[in-house]
Amino acid sequence: MIEQIEGINIAVEGCFHGNFDEIFGTIREIEKQKKIKIDLLLVCGDVQTHRNKHDMFNMACPIKYLSMGTFYKYYEGKEAAPCLTIFIGGNHEASNYLREMYFGGWVAPNIYYLGDSNVIQIKKGNTTFRLGGTSGIFKIFDFNNPKLEPFPFKSEQLRNVYHTKQIDLFKLSLYEGEVNMFLSHDWPQQIHQHGSTKELLKKKQNFEADIKSGRLGSQPHKFTLERLQPDFWFAAHMHVKFEALVKHKTGRQTKFLALDKCIAGRDFIQVFTYTKDKKDLYEQYAYNEEPIELFYDSEWLSIVHTTYKLLTIWDKIPKLFEYNPVLKELQIMKKDKYEEFLNEKRERMKIFGNHQLKIPHNFEVTTPPYDEQDNTIKGLVPPKR
Ligand code: 5GP
Ligand code: MN
Repeated sequence: MIEQIEGINIAVEGCFHGNFDEIFGTIREIEKQKKIKIDLLLVCGDVQTHRNKHDMFNMACPIKYLSMGTFYKYYEGKEAAPCLTIFIGGNHEASNYLREMYFGGWVAPNIYYLGDSNVIQIKKGNTTFRLGGTSGIFKIFDFNNPKLEPFPFKSEQLRNVYHTKQIDLFKLSLYEGEVNMFLSHDWPQQIHQHGSTKELLKKKQNFEADIKSGRLGSQPHKFTLERLQPDFWFAAHMHVKFEALVKHKTGRQTKFLALDKCIAGRDFIQVFTYTKDKKDLYEQYAYNEEPIELFYDSEWLSIVHTTYKLLTIWDKIPKLFEYNPVLKELQIMKKDKYEEFLNEKRERMKIFGNHQLKIPHNFEVTTPPYDEQDNTIKGLVPPKR
């Protein structure tokens, strides 16, 4: 007899690179083999949600890697995702489409983009957890830039658009509640110190210089990891599987797992059950038929309202963080300003109260999807910007 477990069956995957058919096929195969139903698929960036050629040309990547992928079939509804799929963005994305969904949204039926940063609540039966995430990769030269590169992206904006911005780090820093899972594309800086650096170097010798100089990974993510201390942190980008356990000074722990890119034979997927009390990645499958539902998080909504005035297309926003060369980490610059934002957020939270706002299934097709009869795609050169 199989024990009935209250929980949520989750699959986590590394970079998709547009291979929707293959990856969703893998999910269905696992479900068949293990006789389980996966409730939720989490994807850690480089997803490539191209609806058509225009989207494909809004992805930054070397020309030889430009390809349509199979997302458009799910966008137009010819194919359907096997389960609720939630993702963040990496450095190879249909950046124009994701920018339309800056605060998060459905990119196709059952496929939800978390936005540039977000915290939402996920519920199935009696199990609830909070999922946070932030898109893009860290490049110091774009960190203090204003948030919203305007359409159409000109020259370097195609890359600037997915670089981590301080506004997202600031928003996440204002979150005081408990976050259970967090998604990022690149890794938190120095995360290798909490796992087997030796094993990592065996698989990736070219990381040696970055590890020695302490530059492997993202400074902002290190900051967020230490502040939010989620139970789990999932990442991708480095194209290698790597596990770590971070023991925080507060006594909390974060299980870190990075996955490889989605290619047959590589370690690109991890399936586990999230239960209320057993916060582990071991396989233990829940059996219940309740639907899985998404809710806005009232604390996050309060943060969005409070920081809205910092969002601007044209002007520089004030510098909110500085790098401490002794501690080798980012710090909030003006403590009094930060306190002001924190207090304003707390006031707004009182207005939101404990209302549970469901994230509506409001997906719509808004642009013509790729036409499979269109054979001009080969040999096309991206437009000049
Ligand atoms: P992407 O798929 O995003 O174009 O590139 C990912 C590749 O870049 C992976 O093969 C990964 O190992 C490599 N990579 C990403 N960040 C770093 C880094 O900070 N240092 C090194 N040495 N390699 C990196
Ligand atoms: Mn990447």
